[in-house]
Amino acid sequence: MRPFVYRCAKKYGLKGFVFNLPKGVDIHVEGDTISVEAFLLELSENPPLASFIKNTTIHTTSFKGYKNFEILRSHDSQGLITEICPDIAICSECLSELDGSSRRTHYPFINCTHCGPRFTLVNDFPYDRVNTTMNEFEMCPDCRKEYDNPANRRFHAQPTSCCNCGPTYKYIDHGREIIDNELLIKKAAADIDKGKIIAIKGLGGYNLACDAKNSISVHKLRIFKAREKKPFAVMFRSIDEIQLISNISEEEKTTLLSWQRPIVILNLKDKINSFPSLTSGLNTIGAFLPYLPVHYLLFKHLKTKAIILTSGNESDTPILINDDEALNVFNSISGGILANNRKIEHRNDDSVVRIINNEPRLMRRARGYVPAPVDLSFEAEGILATGAELSNCFCIGKGHQAILSQHIGDLKNAETYSFFCENLKKFSELYRFNPHTVVCDLHPDYLSTHFAEESGLPIVQVQHHHAHIAACIAEYKLNEPVIGISYDGTGYGTDRNIWGSELLIADLIDFKRISHFEYVPIPGGDLATKETWRSAVSYLYKTFGKGWNKKDIPFLKIINLSKANKLTEAIDKKINSPLCCSAGRLFDAVAALTGICTESNYHAEAPLLLENYLDENFEASYPFTGDEIISFLPVINAMVIDIQNKKPIHQIVTQFHNTIAEVAFRQINFAIEKNPLKKVVLTGGTFQNKYLTEKLIHLLKKRELEIILPREVPCNDGCIALGQLAISANKKYK
Ligand code: ZN
Ligand code: ZN
Ligand code: FE
Repeated sequence: MRPFVYRCAKKYGLKGFVFNLPKGVDIHVEGDTISVEAFLLELSENPPLASFIKNTTIHTTSFKGYKNFEILRSHDSQGLITEICPDIAICSECLSELDGSSRRTHYPFINCTHCGPRFTLVNDFPYDRVNTTMNEFEMCPDCRKEYDNPANRRFHAQPTSCCNCGPTYKYIDHGREIIDNELLIKKAAADIDKGKIIAIKGLGGYNLACDAKNSISVHKLRIFKAREKKPFAVMFRSIDEIQLISNISEEEKTTLLSWQRPIVILNLKDKINSFPSLTSGLNTIGAFLPYLPVHYLLFKHLKTKAIILTSGNESDTPILINDDEALNVFNSISGGILANNRKIEHRNDDSVVRIINNEPRLMRRARGYVPAPVDLSFEAEGILATGAELSNCFCIGKGHQAILSQHIGDLKNAETYSFFCENLKKFSELYRFNPHTVVCDLHPDYLSTHFAEESGLPIVQVQHHHAHIAACIAEYKLNEPVIGISYDGTGYGTDRNIWGSELLIADLIDFKRISHFEYVPIPGGDLATKETWRSAVSYLYKTFGKGWNKKDIPFLKIINLSKANKLTEAIDKKINSPLCCSAGRLFDAVAALTGICTESNYHAEAPLLLENYLDENFEASYPFTGDEIISFLPVINAMVIDIQNKKPIHQIVTQFHNTIAEVAFRQINFAIEKNPLKKVVLTGGTFQNKYLTEKLIHLLKKRELEIILPREVPCNDGCIALGQLAISANKKYK
């Protein structure tokens, strides 16, 4: 911000100074009224890309008669300046310089104060070159001159460098090394076009890349990553290329082009699309645009206009950042390794966003968003929240801010768990964080719970769905109870059953469970998240009793009936059949019953496949009963009749989604009857379903309610840590 303020002040001939404060910048300007007003307008209308002007306070002060405008040393005696900027995609000025003729023509590490790496290379405060992994590279006199010149775009651009002094790429092609900047990019691009898979060291780790349209390469990549069906994200050469495959909205376009450059989930134009091998039957695609100079350089030479760019790892382990390890692991891929000698301090994946109800909603919070803090209306210093298990991220409290880690992943993987531990150590050092309290989930078996228990610190345990809703309350700084709906796959309840269809009246201290779906036993427990047919069997059994397997539906011909009959015995004997009311298992059951997905290949495949069949023109819904406990037995009954009558699948699936929206609407109305509250929070992974969320919001428009969805954090378990932190902080001050 300071160089920008400096240049603005110079532009309008103003005198004075600017310096950093823990909560922003302090600016003193002197000059004539017109110039000062023009200066203020420019500050608010044209701020640097990645800056957030949360608020501005202006007051008049006495004239001091400064002779110059200066950037003063920052006052940070208490070490309170803790904001680190997230990494920023290459800016337009650097992009044109990359193509022009200068010291940085085709230089893959070009950056300036408006763009480039930040979080991924910081290892200490304050954010200065010595405290980044660029410390190893001494600036050449030319770079130094720019760095010291307040009028230059690279004034105090900590990662600045050029061809003469900065890091370099090399292409390691099975023992052969290419170091010439032009040649190595050409060779890497040619290899991708030839159908090879190459590894590229990026911002927050190594990526694997191949031609998105080459199904043989995609297949090889699937084998390498042990990823049979889960879709891959695709980086397109330009927004025009994306528009060829998807009718994108203005909001989607803005998000794709934003400085965060996340992966955006888009609807494909044609159901039979040109990328069948990578979308695996979904009619959505995760698309993004180049964000690093090296991506642009590659696309200059690539014939293909779309490449898969996925995290470089085997199966679901964390993205690789270590060069030696990368060389070893990627040894068996067909192409070479595009490596560089700039160390990555923090591993960071690409973020994922979906536009729901015309606003970008995070599904994975990482590059471009982390470590921007979430401002709180309460103090949370010294609280560590360990988060959930599957889409884990942790959260630390610093003053009135919550700092969430980047997306970590599924802690059940040993490698991911050690990433969690190593990352927490890094955050603790970086933010000088000393926890006095640890807060975790109520689930006794989560590794994040075990971690809390082993910390030796006082523990607070928070119910999962209370945390979901609390995250939203904290983000919006609400200080009143809300009606919160939390639909997801799994969350441990206070009755030790599995929850996930909760309507809670909640604040940051406590909650009251008002309603939920009817419990069904889930034979096999966790196994049912993969074997979705198990949930279907349980719902059929509950609906039809002993005659459940006599129905004339294709589902009963696909599954192993003798195995299924054993499940109903297990249900009767209450063997490994935990009671569950989660929306996730109900979606699984419907996906299986309709024959769309009886076995899930990756997390949430079943509900994602269901989304394929949605037909916005179909308004009908199924009947359901209950207020406090919503029974879906009438739904299953009617659905089975529809299946027997060979009603088109898309109608059945849409009708089911419409029903869920109406159920949520009923739950909300029922809660309001007794508790006339005005604010309604919608959260939980199920609300990543665009159709369902928008349908429910449409229904809620009939009521005068304020509908709140998380914005800064995902609605999935990536928000749990924030909710835990908020509850723990407020319980303390009860
Ligand atoms: Zn730039
Ligand atoms: Zn240089
Ligand atoms: Fe959840």
